[in-house]
Amino acid sequence: MADDLSKSQKKNLMDIKETIHIQELAPVYQGKKPGLFFSLNKSVCSKEKIKDIIESLGLSIVFWKEYGSLSFSVAQEKEIAKEIKKTRLNEDFGELGKLLGYPECCIDENMQRVSRYPYREAGDFELPFEMNIFFNSNSFGDNLDHKKLMEFTKKCDHRDVFFVSHIPCSMSCKKSLKKGVNNKTSLKKMFPDLAERYEKWLKKGFIVFDVLDFIYFDYEKLEENKIKIKNMQKTPLAKKRDLFNLEGYIELDDGQLTTINNEVYSYFKSILFY
Ligand SMILES: [Zn+2]
Repeated sequence: MADDLSKSQKKNLMDIKETIHIQELAPVYQGKKPGLFFSLNKSVCSKEKIKDIIESLGLSIVFWKEYGSLSFSVAQEKEIAKEIKKTRLNEDFGELGKLLGYPECCIDENMQRVSRYPYREAGDFELPFEMNIFFNSNSFGDNLDHKKLMEFTKKCDHRDVFFVSHIPCSMSCKKSLKKGVNNKTSLKKMFPDLAERYEKWLKKGFIVFDVLDFIYFDYEKLEENKIKIKNMQKTPLAKKRDLFNLEGYIELDDGQLTTINNEVYSYFKSILFY
């Protein structure tokens, strides 16, 4: 089923890759994920255009207004797309999570979570890359510099670089990892080049300081808790990060927090922003 897309369908999908998470659409199309929902950025794509493209794939799309923007759900069956809308508007997040194909452990954890970051409990500092979110456009901060952000997203070649689209109950959640691997496989069948580019970004290590303020790099593992940084780069919004040697080492504490010059930072290869 994955290879039956025509050239024009593929081109149309690439046109709307800024409008829809294509790594979520691919598994929906292939019947590996029940449905997805997203908000429409009208400056990038019109409602009519996305409707035409989605329906040409034999999928159902349902639109609704929420918080002043236009949202939509996509599923193979119209009933599922409608159900996503209903649970979303009723704020029935448990049911919504199931319709989006999220693992039950993560749904339960998120229903109970008050205001903490589950990622801080990560077990391994070397996370499987499929679990990472390198960059997610939902993670915009308050004092966002849009011009710089656009430059950066252009460099990443996509606004949203991730394979796991939900918040995992923990960074060692095996079911989340499986979802990430499945999403990657689905995307690869449809758009191998794009899947490869995502992999390239997600395989990098990164240390997050704040929203969109992070460094990222290739690395080599030297010892259990020591890595050598190679090709370190900063996001356009990174502040005073000159304390890092461009070709330096990083030691990782047992607690998976990173200490550099007596300052404690978040995990290596983890995420703090959604
Ligand atoms: Zn989980």
